[in-house]
Amino acid sequence: MTVTRFAPSPTGYMHIGNLRTALYSYLVAKHDGGKFILRIEDTDRERLVEGATDVIISTLKLTDIVYDEGPNIGGPNGPYVQSERKEIYLEYARKLIDLGAAYYCFCSKERLEKLHESDSTSGYDRHCRNLTKEEVEANLKAGLPYVIRQKMPLTGTTSYYDEVFGEISMKNEELQDQILIKADGFPTYNFCHVIDDHLMGVTHVVRGSEYLTSTPKYVLLYDAFGWERPKYVHLPLLMGKNEDGSVSKLSKRHGAVSFQDLVNDGYLPEAIINYIALLGWCPKNNESEFFSLEDLKKVFTIDGISKSPSVFDFEKLLWFNGEYIHKLDDEKFLSLVKPFVKTQIPDNLNYLKMMQLLKTRISKLSEIDDKMSFFVSLGDYDKELFLNKKNKISDYGIVKDILTEAKSVLSATDNFCNDNLFSSLLTVAEKLGVKTGTLMWCVRIAVSGLLATPGGATEIMEVIGKKESLSRIDFALNKLI
Ligand code: GLU
Repeated sequence: MTVTRFAPSPTGYMHIGNLRTALYSYLVAKHDGGKFILRIEDTDRERLVEGATDVIISTLKLTDIVYDEGPNIGGPNGPYVQSERKEIYLEYARKLIDLGAAYYCFCSKERLEKLHESDSTSGYDRHCRNLTKEEVEANLKAGLPYVIRQKMPLTGTTSYYDEVFGEISMKNEELQDQILIKADGFPTYNFCHVIDDHLMGVTHVVRGSEYLTSTPKYVLLYDAFGWERPKYVHLPLLMGKNEDGSVSKLSKRHGAVSFQDLVNDGYLPEAIINYIALLGWCPKNNESEFFSLEDLKKVFTIDGISKSPSVFDFEKLLWFNGEYIHKLDDEKFLSLVKPFVKTQIPDNLNYLKMMQLLKTRISKLSEIDDKMSFFVSLGDYDKELFLNKKNKISDYGIVKDILTEAKSVLSATDNFCNDNLFSSLLTVAEKLGVKTGTLMWCVRIAVSGLLATPGGATEIMEVIGKKESLSRIDFALNKLI
Protein backbone atom coordinates (compact mmCIF):
# COMPACT_ATOMS: atom_id res chain seq x y z
CA MET A 1 0.00 0.00 0.00
CA THR A 2 1.21 3.51 -0.75
CA VAL A 3 1.88 5.40 2.46
CA THR A 4 2.87 9.06 2.47
CA ARG A 5 3.20 11.67 5.12
CA PHE A 6 3.25 15.40 5.63
CA ALA A 7 5.86 16.25 8.23
CA PRO A 8 5.80 19.96 8.97
CA SER A 9 7.79 21.68 11.67
CA PRO A 10 5.47 23.82 13.78
CA THR A 11 7.34 27.04 13.20
CA GLY A 12 4.49 29.43 12.52
CA TYR A 13 2.02 29.99 9.76
CA MET A 14 1.23 27.57 6.92
CA HIS A 15 3.27 28.72 3.96
CA ILE A 16 1.60 28.03 0.65
CA GLY A 17 4.63 25.93 -0.35
CA ASN A 18 4.08 23.69 2.67
CA LEU A 19 0.44 23.35 1.79
CA ARG A 20 1.42 22.30 -1.71
CA THR A 21 3.69 19.65 -0.20
CA ALA A 22 0.83 18.43 1.99
CA LEU A 23 -1.50 18.33 -1.00
CA TYR A 24 0.88 16.46 -3.30
CA SER A 25 1.79 14.01 -0.57
CA TYR A 26 -1.90 13.41 0.12
CA LEU A 27 -2.65 12.97 -3.57
CA VAL A 28 0.20 10.53 -4.13
CA ALA A 29 -1.32 8.33 -1.42
CA LYS A 30 -4.96 8.81 -2.32
CA HIS A 31 -4.51 8.25 -6.04
CA ASP A 32 -3.50 4.72 -5.08
CA GLY A 33 -6.09 4.34 -2.34
CA GLY A 34 -3.24 4.58 0.15
CA LYS A 35 -2.68 6.10 3.56
CA PHE A 36 -1.69 9.64 4.44
CA ILE A 37 -0.07 10.50 7.78
CA LEU A 38 0.43 13.81 9.55
CA ARG A 39 3.56 13.95 11.68
CA ILE A 40 4.70 16.99 13.63
CA GLU A 41 8.46 17.50 13.55
CA ASP A 42 9.17 19.54 16.62
CA THR A 43 12.62 18.44 17.70
CA ASP A 44 14.18 21.79 16.88
CA ARG A 45 13.01 23.22 20.18
CA GLU A 46 14.32 26.71 19.47
CA ARG A 47 12.16 27.20 16.41
CA LEU A 48 8.91 26.11 18.03
CA VAL A 49 6.00 28.52 17.84
CA GLU A 50 3.10 28.05 20.15
CA GLY A 51 -0.16 27.31 18.39
CA ALA A 52 1.59 26.40 15.13
CA THR A 53 0.42 22.79 15.26
CA ASP A 54 -3.17 23.99 15.57
CA VAL A 55 -2.68 26.13 12.47
CA ILE A 56 -1.43 23.07 10.57
CA ILE A 57 -4.35 20.94 11.71
CA SER A 58 -6.96 23.57 10.98
CA THR A 59 -5.49 24.28 7.55
CA LEU A 60 -5.66 20.62 6.61
CA LYS A 61 -9.21 20.52 7.89
CA LEU A 62 -10.26 23.58 5.91
CA THR A 63 -8.74 22.20 2.74
CA ASP A 64 -10.18 18.72 3.24
CA ILE A 65 -6.76 17.12 3.22
CA VAL A 66 -7.81 14.39 5.59
CA TYR A 67 -5.06 12.39 7.23
CA ASP A 68 -5.56 8.80 8.32
CA GLU A 69 -3.14 8.98 11.22
CA GLY A 70 -1.95 12.02 13.11
CA PRO A 71 -1.41 13.77 16.40
CA ASN A 72 -5.01 14.53 17.31
CA ILE A 73 -6.53 11.33 15.96
CA GLY A 74 -3.85 8.79 16.80
CA GLY A 75 -3.18 5.59 14.91
CA PRO A 76 -1.15 2.40 15.09
CA ASN A 77 2.21 4.14 14.61
CA GLY A 78 1.88 6.91 17.19
CA PRO A 79 2.75 9.11 18.82
CA TYR A 80 2.80 11.44 15.82
CA VAL A 81 4.64 14.30 17.49
CA GLN A 82 8.37 13.74 17.44
CA SER A 83 9.09 15.26 20.84
CA GLU A 84 6.97 12.45 22.27
CA ARG A 85 9.13 9.83 20.54
CA LYS A 86 12.49 10.89 21.97
CA GLU A 87 13.32 7.50 23.49
CA ILE A 88 12.73 5.69 20.22
CA TYR A 89 15.38 7.74 18.43
CA LEU A 90 17.96 7.23 21.14
CA GLU A 91 17.46 3.51 20.93
CA TYR A 92 17.98 3.53 17.17
CA ALA A 93 20.99 5.79 17.42
CA ARG A 94 22.61 3.29 19.78
CA LYS A 95 21.77 0.51 17.35
CA LEU A 96 23.49 2.47 14.64
CA ILE A 97 26.60 2.82 16.82
CA ASP A 98 26.60 -0.95 17.28
CA LEU A 99 26.33 -1.32 13.52
CA GLY A 100 29.39 0.88 13.09
CA ALA A 101 27.51 3.63 11.26
CA ALA A 102 27.47 6.21 14.05
CA TYR A 103 29.64 7.27 16.97
CA TYR A 104 29.66 9.23 20.20
CA CYS A 105 31.27 12.63 19.97
CA PHE A 106 32.39 14.34 23.16
CA CYS A 107 33.89 17.44 21.60
CA SER A 108 33.21 20.49 23.70
CA LYS A 109 31.48 23.55 22.39
CA GLU A 110 34.71 25.49 22.76
CA ARG A 111 36.62 23.01 20.64
CA LEU A 112 34.02 23.10 17.91
CA GLU A 113 33.93 26.88 17.96
CA LYS A 114 37.69 27.05 17.62
CA LEU A 115 37.53 24.62 14.75
CA HIS A 116 34.95 26.75 13.05
CA GLU A 117 36.99 29.92 13.61
CA SER A 118 40.07 28.43 12.02
CA ASP A 119 38.15 27.04 9.05
CA SER A 120 34.47 27.78 8.66
CA THR A 121 34.01 25.67 5.54
CA SER A 122 35.24 22.18 6.24
CA GLY A 123 32.94 21.30 9.16
CA TYR A 124 33.60 18.77 11.87
CA ASP A 125 37.07 17.18 11.75
CA ARG A 126 35.90 13.72 12.89
CA HIS A 127 37.98 14.02 16.03
CA CYS A 128 35.92 11.45 17.97
CA ARG A 129 35.31 9.10 15.09
CA ASN A 130 38.06 6.73 16.09
CA LEU A 131 37.85 6.75 19.87
CA THR A 132 38.38 3.31 21.30
CA LYS A 133 35.56 1.45 22.96
CA GLU A 134 37.29 1.96 26.30
CA GLU A 135 37.68 5.71 25.78
CA VAL A 136 34.01 6.02 24.92
CA GLU A 137 32.95 4.02 27.94
CA ALA A 138 35.15 6.05 30.26
CA ASN A 139 33.74 9.31 28.89
CA LEU A 140 30.18 8.06 29.28
CA LYS A 141 30.91 6.91 32.79
CA ALA A 142 32.40 10.29 33.65
CA GLY A 143 29.13 11.82 32.50
CA LEU A 144 30.67 13.89 29.71
CA PRO A 145 28.04 15.48 27.52
CA TYR A 146 27.94 13.99 24.04
CA VAL A 147 26.25 14.02 20.68
CA ILE A 148 25.88 11.08 18.34
CA ARG A 149 27.17 11.54 14.81
CA GLN A 150 26.65 9.62 11.62
CA LYS A 151 29.79 7.88 10.36
CA MET A 152 29.88 8.73 6.70
CA PRO A 153 31.84 6.59 4.26
CA LEU A 154 34.97 8.46 3.26
CA THR A 155 35.27 7.29 -0.30
CA GLY A 156 32.97 6.39 -3.15
CA THR A 157 29.62 7.91 -3.97
CA THR A 158 26.09 7.54 -2.68
CA SER A 159 23.25 7.64 -5.14
CA TYR A 160 19.51 7.37 -5.08
CA TYR A 161 16.75 7.69 -7.59
CA ASP A 162 14.30 10.54 -7.27
CA GLU A 163 10.95 10.05 -9.01
CA VAL A 164 10.98 13.62 -10.26
CA PHE A 165 14.62 14.62 -10.55
CA GLY A 166 16.08 11.25 -11.53
CA GLU A 167 19.42 9.89 -10.37
CA ILE A 168 21.07 11.98 -7.65
CA SER A 169 24.66 11.21 -6.68
CA MET A 170 26.92 12.67 -4.08
CA LYS A 171 30.59 12.04 -3.43
CA ASN A 172 30.88 10.59 0.05
CA GLU A 173 33.85 12.79 0.84
CA GLU A 174 31.46 15.73 0.69
CA LEU A 175 29.20 14.31 3.37
CA GLN A 176 29.65 15.65 6.89
CA ASP A 177 29.52 13.39 9.92
CA GLN A 178 26.27 15.05 10.81
CA ILE A 179 24.75 15.05 14.28
CA LEU A 180 21.95 12.55 14.78
CA ILE A 181 21.33 13.08 18.50
CA LYS A 182 22.02 16.47 20.05
CA ALA A 183 23.48 17.16 23.47
CA ASP A 184 19.97 17.79 24.82
CA GLY A 185 19.02 14.25 23.84
CA PHE A 186 16.77 15.43 21.06
CA PRO A 187 17.37 13.98 17.62
CA THR A 188 18.01 16.17 14.61
CA TYR A 189 15.61 16.22 11.71
CA ASN A 190 18.28 14.43 9.71
CA PHE A 191 17.91 11.39 11.89
CA CYS A 192 14.44 11.19 13.31
CA HIS A 193 12.53 11.65 10.09
CA VAL A 194 14.30 8.57 8.71
CA ILE A 195 13.45 6.50 11.76
CA ASP A 196 9.86 7.66 11.68
CA ASP A 197 9.42 7.18 7.96
CA HIS A 198 10.64 3.63 8.39
CA LEU A 199 8.58 2.84 11.49
CA MET A 200 5.48 4.42 10.04
CA GLY A 201 5.82 2.41 6.85
CA VAL A 202 6.18 5.43 4.57
CA THR A 203 6.66 4.24 1.01
CA HIS A 204 6.95 7.63 -0.72
CA VAL A 205 8.71 10.62 0.82
CA VAL A 206 7.15 13.67 -0.78
CA ARG A 207 8.79 16.98 0.15
CA GLY A 208 10.42 20.16 -1.11
CA SER A 209 13.49 20.01 -3.30
CA GLU A 210 15.63 21.66 -0.62
CA TYR A 211 16.16 18.11 0.67
CA LEU A 212 17.31 16.74 -2.66
CA THR A 213 21.02 16.99 -1.86
CA SER A 214 20.83 15.88 1.77
CA THR A 215 18.93 12.73 0.90
CA PRO A 216 22.13 10.72 0.17
CA LYS A 217 22.86 11.02 3.90
CA TYR A 218 19.42 9.65 4.67
CA VAL A 219 19.64 6.71 2.31
CA LEU A 220 22.92 5.76 3.99
CA LEU A 221 20.96 5.45 7.23
CA TYR A 222 18.42 3.15 5.59
CA ASP A 223 21.26 1.09 4.16
CA ALA A 224 23.07 0.88 7.50
CA PHE A 225 19.96 -0.44 9.22
CA GLY A 226 19.29 -2.78 6.33
CA TRP A 227 15.93 -1.16 5.69
CA GLU A 228 14.28 -0.77 2.34
CA ARG A 229 14.63 2.78 1.04
CA PRO A 230 11.41 4.64 0.34
CA LYS A 231 10.70 6.21 -3.03
CA TYR A 232 11.64 9.89 -3.12
CA VAL A 233 9.45 12.52 -4.70
CA HIS A 234 11.05 15.93 -4.36
CA LEU A 235 8.90 18.81 -5.50
CA PRO A 236 10.01 21.71 -7.67
CA LEU A 237 10.88 25.03 -6.08
CA LEU A 238 8.16 27.58 -5.66
CA MET A 239 9.14 31.03 -6.84
CA GLY A 240 7.63 34.50 -6.63
CA LYS A 241 7.80 37.26 -9.22
CA ASN A 242 9.88 40.26 -8.22
CA GLU A 243 9.05 43.77 -9.27
CA ASP A 244 11.93 43.88 -11.73
CA GLY A 245 10.57 40.79 -13.50
CA SER A 246 13.09 38.36 -12.01
CA VAL A 247 12.00 35.49 -9.78
CA SER A 248 13.18 34.33 -6.37
CA LYS A 249 12.05 31.84 -3.75
CA LEU A 250 8.45 32.62 -2.85
CA SER A 251 8.36 34.67 0.33
CA LYS A 252 6.35 37.30 2.15
CA ARG A 253 7.72 40.12 0.05
CA HIS A 254 5.85 38.70 -2.94
CA GLY A 255 2.50 39.06 -1.17
CA ALA A 256 0.36 36.97 1.15
CA VAL A 257 1.98 33.55 1.12
CA SER A 258 0.33 31.97 4.11
CA PHE A 259 -2.84 30.00 3.65
CA GLN A 260 -4.47 31.86 6.52
CA ASP A 261 -3.64 35.28 5.07
CA LEU A 262 -5.16 34.25 1.76
CA VAL A 263 -8.31 32.98 3.46
CA ASN A 264 -8.53 36.16 5.51
CA ASP A 265 -8.31 38.08 2.27
CA GLY A 266 -11.30 36.22 0.87
CA TYR A 267 -9.75 33.39 -1.09
CA LEU A 268 -11.68 30.12 -0.99
CA PRO A 269 -9.77 27.04 0.18
CA GLU A 270 -11.04 25.10 -2.86
CA ALA A 271 -9.67 27.73 -5.23
CA ILE A 272 -6.33 27.83 -3.43
CA ILE A 273 -6.08 24.04 -3.60
CA ASN A 274 -7.00 24.02 -7.27
CA TYR A 275 -4.43 26.68 -8.05
CA ILE A 276 -1.57 25.18 -6.06
CA ALA A 277 -2.25 21.73 -7.48
CA LEU A 278 -1.14 23.18 -10.80
CA LEU A 279 1.99 24.76 -9.37
CA GLY A 280 4.40 22.02 -10.34
CA TRP A 281 2.04 19.41 -11.69
CA CYS A 282 0.34 19.13 -15.05
CA PRO A 283 -2.62 16.90 -15.83
CA LYS A 284 -2.27 14.48 -18.71
CA ASN A 285 -4.73 14.72 -21.62
CA ASN A 286 -6.88 17.12 -19.75
CA GLU A 287 -7.92 20.44 -21.11
CA SER A 288 -9.60 21.68 -17.98
CA GLU A 289 -7.79 23.67 -15.34
CA PHE A 290 -10.54 23.14 -12.80
CA PHE A 291 -10.10 20.33 -10.36
CA SER A 292 -11.86 19.57 -7.14
CA LEU A 293 -9.93 17.58 -4.59
CA GLU A 294 -11.91 14.51 -5.67
CA ASP A 295 -10.93 15.09 -9.30
CA LEU A 296 -7.32 15.51 -8.27
CA LYS A 297 -7.31 12.21 -6.42
CA LYS A 298 -8.31 10.54 -9.67
CA VAL A 299 -5.93 12.25 -12.05
CA PHE A 300 -2.87 13.10 -9.97
CA THR A 301 0.16 10.99 -10.83
CA ILE A 302 3.82 11.48 -9.95
CA ASP A 303 4.90 11.52 -13.56
CA GLY A 304 2.93 14.73 -14.03
CA ILE A 305 5.16 16.55 -11.53
CA SER A 306 7.61 18.89 -13.16
CA LYS A 307 11.15 19.52 -12.00
CA SER A 308 11.38 23.08 -13.19
CA PRO A 309 10.54 25.77 -10.63
CA SER A 310 6.97 27.04 -10.63
CA VAL A 311 6.16 30.69 -10.31
CA PHE A 312 3.32 31.67 -8.01
CA ASP A 313 1.10 34.06 -9.92
CA PHE A 314 -1.22 36.07 -7.70
CA GLU A 315 -3.22 37.27 -10.71
CA LYS A 316 -3.93 33.71 -11.74
CA LEU A 317 -4.94 32.75 -8.23
CA LEU A 318 -7.28 35.73 -8.12
CA TRP A 319 -8.81 34.65 -11.40
CA PHE A 320 -9.31 31.10 -10.13
CA ASN A 321 -10.83 32.44 -6.97
CA GLY A 322 -13.29 34.61 -8.91
CA GLU A 323 -14.35 31.61 -10.96
CA TYR A 324 -14.99 29.63 -7.78
CA ILE A 325 -16.94 32.47 -6.19
CA HIS A 326 -19.12 32.96 -9.26
CA LYS A 327 -20.09 29.29 -9.20
CA LEU A 328 -21.17 29.29 -5.55
CA ASP A 329 -24.86 28.91 -4.87
CA ASP A 330 -26.46 31.94 -3.25
CA GLU A 331 -26.80 30.39 0.16
CA LYS A 332 -23.17 29.37 0.32
CA PHE A 333 -22.02 32.71 -1.01
CA LEU A 334 -24.06 34.58 1.57
CA SER A 335 -22.61 32.61 4.43
CA LEU A 336 -19.03 32.90 3.16
CA VAL A 337 -19.22 36.59 2.43
CA LYS A 338 -20.91 37.52 5.70
CA PRO A 339 -17.72 37.94 7.78
CA PHE A 340 -16.38 40.32 5.14
CA VAL A 341 -19.37 42.65 5.25
CA LYS A 342 -18.36 45.41 7.63
CA THR A 343 -20.78 48.02 6.33
CA GLN A 344 -24.03 48.64 8.15
CA ILE A 345 -26.79 47.63 5.76
CA PRO A 346 -29.75 50.05 5.64
CA ASP A 347 -33.24 48.53 5.97
CA ASN A 348 -34.37 49.64 2.54
CA LEU A 349 -31.77 47.51 0.85
CA ASN A 350 -32.69 44.21 -0.80
CA TYR A 351 -29.70 42.33 0.57
CA LEU A 352 -30.22 39.11 -1.36
CA LYS A 353 -30.60 40.87 -4.74
CA MET A 354 -27.57 42.99 -4.04
CA MET A 355 -25.47 39.94 -3.19
CA GLN A 356 -26.70 38.11 -6.27
CA LEU A 357 -25.51 41.02 -8.37
CA LEU A 358 -22.19 41.22 -6.60
CA LYS A 359 -21.44 37.51 -6.51
CA THR A 360 -20.42 37.37 -10.14
CA ARG A 361 -18.48 40.61 -9.96
CA ILE A 362 -15.98 39.98 -7.25
CA SER A 363 -12.80 37.93 -7.38
CA LYS A 364 -12.24 37.69 -3.66
CA LEU A 365 -14.62 38.03 -0.75
CA SER A 366 -12.79 41.00 0.74
CA GLU A 367 -13.83 43.10 -2.27
CA ILE A 368 -17.43 43.01 -1.14
CA ASP A 369 -17.51 46.11 1.05
CA ASP A 370 -15.94 48.26 -1.57
CA LYS A 371 -18.13 46.93 -4.36
CA MET A 372 -21.36 47.34 -2.40
CA SER A 373 -20.69 50.80 -1.02
CA PHE A 374 -22.64 52.64 -3.71
CA PHE A 375 -25.74 50.59 -2.94
CA VAL A 376 -25.50 51.64 0.69
CA SER A 377 -24.88 55.30 0.10
CA LEU A 378 -24.53 57.48 -2.92
CA GLY A 379 -21.23 59.26 -3.17
CA ASP A 380 -20.98 62.65 -4.84
CA TYR A 381 -20.10 62.57 -8.53
CA ASP A 382 -19.45 64.84 -11.44
CA LYS A 383 -22.45 65.47 -13.70
CA GLU A 384 -20.16 64.93 -16.67
CA LEU A 385 -20.64 61.23 -16.05
CA PHE A 386 -23.97 61.55 -17.82
CA LEU A 387 -22.39 62.67 -21.09
CA ASN A 388 -21.81 59.71 -23.33
CA LYS A 389 -20.90 59.52 -26.99
CA LYS A 390 -22.19 56.05 -27.64
CA ASN A 391 -25.60 56.94 -26.32
CA LYS A 392 -25.43 60.31 -28.10
CA ILE A 393 -25.77 62.32 -24.91
CA SER A 394 -23.83 65.49 -25.53
CA ASP A 395 -25.76 67.97 -23.40
CA TYR A 396 -27.55 67.93 -20.08
CA GLY A 397 -30.95 68.92 -21.52
CA ILE A 398 -31.78 65.39 -22.62
CA VAL A 399 -30.57 63.97 -19.31
CA LYS A 400 -32.86 66.31 -17.45
CA ASP A 401 -35.85 65.40 -19.61
CA ILE A 402 -35.20 61.70 -19.17
CA LEU A 403 -34.78 61.88 -15.42
CA THR A 404 -37.79 64.14 -14.95
CA GLU A 405 -40.01 61.79 -16.87
CA ALA A 406 -38.46 58.71 -15.24
CA LYS A 407 -39.11 60.22 -11.85
CA SER A 408 -42.76 60.76 -12.57
CA VAL A 409 -43.26 57.24 -13.94
CA LEU A 410 -41.30 55.65 -11.09
CA SER A 411 -43.24 57.63 -8.49
CA ALA A 412 -46.36 55.94 -9.84
CA THR A 413 -44.74 52.49 -9.80
CA ASP A 414 -45.16 50.50 -6.64
CA ASN A 415 -43.68 47.14 -7.40
CA PHE A 416 -39.96 47.80 -7.63
CA CYS A 417 -38.98 44.48 -9.08
CA ASN A 418 -36.63 44.39 -12.02
CA ASP A 419 -39.13 43.36 -14.71
CA ASN A 420 -41.71 45.84 -13.60
CA LEU A 421 -39.20 48.67 -13.48
CA PHE A 422 -37.99 47.75 -16.92
CA SER A 423 -41.43 47.92 -18.50
CA SER A 424 -42.20 51.18 -16.69
CA LEU A 425 -39.05 52.78 -18.01
CA LEU A 426 -39.74 51.54 -21.54
CA THR A 427 -42.80 53.77 -21.61
CA VAL A 428 -40.55 56.72 -20.81
CA ALA A 429 -38.24 55.89 -23.71
CA GLU A 430 -41.19 55.60 -26.03
CA LYS A 431 -42.75 58.83 -24.85
CA LEU A 432 -39.52 60.80 -25.27
CA GLY A 433 -38.53 59.02 -28.46
CA VAL A 434 -35.10 58.03 -27.07
CA LYS A 435 -33.37 54.70 -27.26
CA THR A 436 -33.74 52.37 -24.31
CA GLY A 437 -29.95 52.35 -23.90
CA THR A 438 -29.84 56.12 -23.64
CA LEU A 439 -32.57 56.18 -21.06
CA MET A 440 -31.05 53.38 -19.00
CA TRP A 441 -27.67 55.06 -19.09
CA CYS A 442 -29.04 58.23 -17.52
CA VAL A 443 -31.03 56.43 -14.88
CA ARG A 444 -28.16 54.11 -14.01
CA ILE A 445 -25.74 56.99 -13.51
CA ALA A 446 -28.33 58.80 -11.40
CA VAL A 447 -29.04 55.86 -9.11
CA SER A 448 -25.40 54.82 -8.74
CA GLY A 449 -23.20 57.84 -9.27
CA LEU A 450 -20.80 55.51 -11.06
CA LEU A 451 -19.74 54.88 -14.63
CA ALA A 452 -19.44 51.14 -14.21
CA THR A 453 -21.74 49.19 -11.93
CA PRO A 454 -22.63 45.61 -11.16
CA GLY A 455 -26.04 45.34 -12.78
CA GLY A 456 -28.11 47.78 -14.79
CA ALA A 457 -30.35 50.67 -13.75
CA THR A 458 -33.40 48.58 -12.97
CA GLU A 459 -31.46 45.95 -11.04
CA ILE A 460 -29.85 48.64 -8.92
CA MET A 461 -33.23 50.23 -8.23
CA GLU A 462 -34.63 46.86 -7.25
CA VAL A 463 -31.87 46.65 -4.65
CA ILE A 464 -32.12 50.16 -3.20
CA GLY A 465 -35.91 50.44 -3.35
CA LYS A 466 -38.34 53.12 -4.38
CA LYS A 467 -37.64 55.85 -1.86
CA GLU A 468 -33.90 55.77 -2.30
CA SER A 469 -34.15 55.54 -6.11
CA LEU A 470 -36.35 58.60 -6.26
CA SER A 471 -34.16 60.53 -3.90
CA ARG A 472 -31.09 59.71 -6.02
CA ILE A 473 -32.87 60.85 -9.16
CA ASP A 474 -33.76 64.09 -7.36
CA PHE A 475 -30.16 64.52 -6.37
CA ALA A 476 -29.15 64.15 -10.02
CA LEU A 477 -31.81 66.60 -11.18
CA ASN A 478 -30.53 69.16 -8.70
CA LYS A 479 -27.08 68.79 -10.17
CA LEU A 480 -28.45 69.46 -13.62
CA ILE A 481 -30.25 72.70 -12.85
N1 GLU B 1 10.05 19.02 8.97
C1 GLU B 1 10.55 19.15 7.64
C2 GLU B 1 10.10 20.47 7.07
O1 GLU B 1 9.16 21.05 7.58
C3 GLU B 1 9.99 18.02 6.81
C4 GLU B 1 10.78 17.64 5.63
C5 GLU B 1 10.29 16.28 5.12
O2 GLU B 1 9.16 16.20 4.68
O3 GLU B 1 11.04 15.31 5.25
O4 GLU B 1 10.70 20.95 6.14
